[in-house]
Amino acid sequence: MLSYAVYVILSVAFVLCLLRESISKRIIRQDAAREAVLVSILNALAGPGQFLAYVTFVLSSSLFTRLGKDYKASKLLSKDIYGRDRLQIIAVGLLPGALGTLCVMLYVAGMHQLATKLMIVPIAMLATSNADTWASEIGVLYKGKPRLILRPSLSVEPGTSGAVSPLGIAASLGGAATIACVGALATRLTEYVLYDLNYSVHMIFIIVLVSGFIGEVSDSILGYLLQEKRRCRVCGTICEHEYHCGEPTEHLWGRKGIKGEHVNMMSQAVSAVTCILLVSLLL
Ligand SMILES: [Zn+2]
Repeated sequence: MLSYAVYVILSVAFVLCLLRESISKRIIRQDAAREAVLVSILNALAGPGQFLAYVTFVLSSSLFTRLGKDYKASKLLSKDIYGRDRLQIIAVGLLPGALGTLCVMLYVAGMHQLATKLMIVPIAMLATSNADTWASEIGVLYKGKPRLILRPSLSVEPGTSGAVSPLGIAASLGGAATIACVGALATRLTEYVLYDLNYSVHMIFIIVLVSGFIGEVSDSILGYLLQEKRRCRVCGTICEHEYHCGEPTEHLWGRKGIKGEHVNMMSQAVSAVTCILLVSLLL
C-alpha cells in the first residue's frame, strides 16, 4: 500500500498544477474550480490506469475544442471555447471517478475479484465521454449537413443533438480508441501500485473500445429522442433554436429542459452496463 500512498500524493500534486493551468488557459471556467478538483481527485484515487485515461480525456478534449475556434465562434457552434462549466465537469467525470474510487475501497476491503472486474467500467465510461467530445468538437467542422441518427433522410443544422456525420463518427471512434489504448496500457501501472490483475492488455482495449463506442451511439439516439427539436417556419431547417431566419421556430418533439449533460450521464450508464456484460462474458 506504500506505493499507492506515494502515487496518491504525486497525482494530487499534479491535479493542483493542472488546475492552475486549466483556469489560466480557459479550459475550465474559474467558478468551476471546486468541481474540477473534486472530480480530478476521485479519478486519481481510482489508480493510474483510470487517471491517465482521465488526463488524456481532459487534454485531448481541450485541444479539439480549440480546433477551428474562430469558425465555431462565428457560427455559435461551441460555447465550450470559453471553458467548461460546473455541470459539464460533473456530468463527464463524477460517475466514473466515484465508481473508480469505490473499486479501490472494495479491493482494500478484501473483495479482490469484484474490484478488479469493476475497475474497467469507469474507463469505459470515460471512453464514451471522450468519444462524445471528439465527435462534437471535430464533427461540427464537417462541411456538409449532418443527418439525424434515426431519420437519416432529415438533414439538420450542425451541432443539433442526435445528428451524425461521417467525420463525427470517425472522430468518436478515434476518441474511444484513444482512451481504450491509454487505459489498457496504463492498467499495467495500476498493477504496480494497487491491483493484482491478470487481464491481457488486448482484452481491456477491446472491451473499453466497444463499450465506449456503444455508449456514444446511445448518446446520439437519446439526444435525438429526448432533446428538443424545432423547425424554422421560413427555411424549414431543423434545429434547437427558438428563432431562425428572424422568426420564432415551431416545436417538433423532445423536451426543452433536457440538456446535453443529462444525456451524457445516461450514455455513460449505457457504457457501464455494456462494459459489465462484456467483462462477465470475456474476462
Ligand atoms: Zn430558417
